[in-house]
Amino acid sequence: MKRFICIIAAVSLLVASGCAKKTERYRAEFLSIFDTVTIVVGYSESKEEFVEHTGQIKEQLAEYHRLFDIYNSYEGLNNLKTINDNAGIKPVKVDKKIISLLSFAKELYYTTHGKLNIALGAVLRIWHEYREKGILDPQSAELPAKELLEAAARHSSIENIKIDEEAQTVYLADPKMSLDVGAVAKGYAVEQVARHLEEKGVSSLLISVGGNVRALGGKSGKNGEEPWNIAVKNPDKEEPDADLCNLFITDCSVVSSGSYERYYTVEGTMFHHIIDPGTLLPASYFKSVTVVCPDSGLADALSTAVFIMPLEMGREFIDSLAGVEALWVLDSGEIVYSKNFRLGRQIGNTRGRTFCVVSLPSTTRGDGPSVLLACHL
Ligand code: ADP
Ligand code: MG
Repeated sequence: MKRFICIIAAVSLLVASGCAKKTERYRAEFLSIFDTVTIVVGYSESKEEFVEHTGQIKEQLAEYHRLFDIYNSYEGLNNLKTINDNAGIKPVKVDKKIISLLSFAKELYYTTHGKLNIALGAVLRIWHEYREKGILDPQSAELPAKELLEAAARHSSIENIKIDEEAQTVYLADPKMSLDVGAVAKGYAVEQVARHLEEKGVSSLLISVGGNVRALGGKSGKNGEEPWNIAVKNPDKEEPDADLCNLFITDCSVVSSGSYERYYTVEGTMFHHIIDPGTLLPASYFKSVTVVCPDSGLADALSTAVFIMPLEMGREFIDSLAGVEALWVLDSGEIVYSKNFRLGRQIGNTRGRTFCVVSLPSTTRGDGPSVLLACHL
């Protein structure tokens, strides 16, 4: 079932003036990891070097995928499904990558005022089942009963995730609870892989796992290093080809959450996959939220969490975080930006490098995006 398709092609030759080394632009694409498309674009001195980096990315992402999988078991591996299967039974010894992800996500529960809750698995599973059924057979699509959702929500306490760092075990103290890390796992995995490559000296690469974008450095341009140009897709289904805006980033991540990708329709109304823990229904404030910040794990988690917050709450929340910016697409199509998210404005500094975000309406852009990515979910 899991198959990888890898296409690697030299796309163009770029010689950066002022830069002694000649680099070429390469692009690779592969499927299946986190059940989505991964795109890697990079500037390397040789194809071999790029292929090596891509191989590492693929291998590492595949490992994170297996560890964070809640649907499949893998022989000889304790993953999140193993933890869920042992809820109320016993602690499960796991790889420290799982411990780190769960600690990170647990902390974010508090930061996001409970909007992001990885212990909401019992509720999310119900929505998942109804959605899958409704997509397969639209005529009989229906909504889960309120009582069913409420009964499941009684088993979603974050405190019942017992992490023992020393013993390297995780125990779910409620037999009816389960973990769902769909809101954060992809971004977290991308961030870890990116940091690994940074440590190895990779300085110009862009990774997108299903639109979860993380840039290492910038790209090689005519005048040396230039920011990557990320086109954020319009969430409006009526205008699928129009870009909403272009973001120029260096050493930074861009992640969107939206109501437009994974959904099903019941009697003409769309029901998507991001669930408000307060109402147990899909959040209905926006079409999409895009978060820009250095850490891709944080960007992923925050884009989901802010999608569940009313606009004023979300703006206040984002503005209170250093080096994090966001843009909201309202139902009316209007775009709202966080405080420092302005044209040409520098918004932060990470690992000694400055990163910047510039947002331009797509009509004013120059040669078009160097890499066109759907920042969607
Ligand atoms: P995608 O997984 O499509 O990239 P997101 O990052 O926004 O999109 O995450 C959505 C996923 O997160 C859902 O499919 C579900 O697995 C999970 N999820 C939905 N609502 C919540 C929530 N309130 N807290 C934690 N996880 C959630
Ligand atoms: Mg997310």
